[in-house]
Amino acid sequence: MPSLDRSTIWPYRDGEPGEFYYQRYAHPTGVEAERRLGELDGGHAVLFSSGTGAAISFALAFLSPDDTIALAEGAYFGTGVGFDELARWGLRHVEFDQTGAPPDGVQLLWLEAPSNPFLTMPDLEVAAAHPAAVLVDATAATPIHLRPLDHGADYVLHSATKYLAGHDDALLGAVVCKREEDAARLKEFRTRTGVVAAPDPCYLLLRGLKTLEVRVQRQTESARDLTARLERHPSVSKVRYPGFGGLVSFDVAGADAARHVETSVRLIANATSLGGVDSVLESRHRWEGDRVPTGLLRLSVGLEPVEELWQDLAGALEFPGFFPQA
Ligand code: PLP
Repeated sequence: MPSLDRSTIWPYRDGEPGEFYYQRYAHPTGVEAERRLGELDGGHAVLFSSGTGAAISFALAFLSPDDTIALAEGAYFGTGVGFDELARWGLRHVEFDQTGAPPDGVQLLWLEAPSNPFLTMPDLEVAAAHPAAVLVDATAATPIHLRPLDHGADYVLHSATKYLAGHDDALLGAVVCKREEDAARLKEFRTRTGVVAAPDPCYLLLRGLKTLEVRVQRQTESARDLTARLERHPSVSKVRYPGFGGLVSFDVAGADAARHVETSVRLIANATSLGGVDSVLESRHRWEGDRVPTGLLRLSVGLEPVEELWQDLAGALEFPGFFPQA
């Protein structure tokens, strides 16, 4: 069993600090969670206080003013918004279609596998042949479906808040590095800036990782089943699904129809986030504005019986006659 050690200090031995001495530098629960996640992704993991904390720390630790990030178009909204914050410090980002060739003259490719909520997959082979360093945000794929370091990426980013911890009760992020020296630099940056992952969420991550494979397999099976049924449903004009994982997005006629689905589901919670054992669904237009169709709903499939999930969705997709088909 993983152990939870909440200490912030550990006594020196014979007048010298040992492996652990002050929590901001390292703590046993975090080190164990990093070891386990590193094994899963085939690299060296560094945990942060959130996925966003991991992303911003990465950019600050490895990039410089006047560098440009090529960011996958339609990637998690918060990633671009976070980079906007760094624009004042001279960091630029441009968006590109990650299913094709990345632009020249950039220092980092930031891909997302699959992108959230458009669910496109990056062309990893083309990315690996590009001279820039490659980071893949594989939050939605998880190491069960994709290990980007095996496909030429230099770094993997996870919002461990999602599938890895898996129960909507821990906020955490991770960067998994191919090279150990990069992980050492990130740890140094983390200690100096204090963007640390606390012991409690690290413990919950260790617990979540024990069931990751069975959860993700079950979520994939259910998502495939629901995708096929959504594709045949007359109220649904478009379904996006990469063929694996528990994340699906689909379009209904517009904002009113999306609101109707949000307020009609009962088993599925109308809530944000993704990757937990409980199914959640929400309109993304409220957060992302015009880059997302008004009728787009993102569904994160949990572990409930798939037939019950379908009954809930099908009931919510029964619109009163005044919603025109898109
Ligand atoms: N990356 C992806 C793909 C996400 O979906 C999210 C959050 O939704 C993040 C990163 C940011 O993670 P966190 O919310 O843990 O900061």
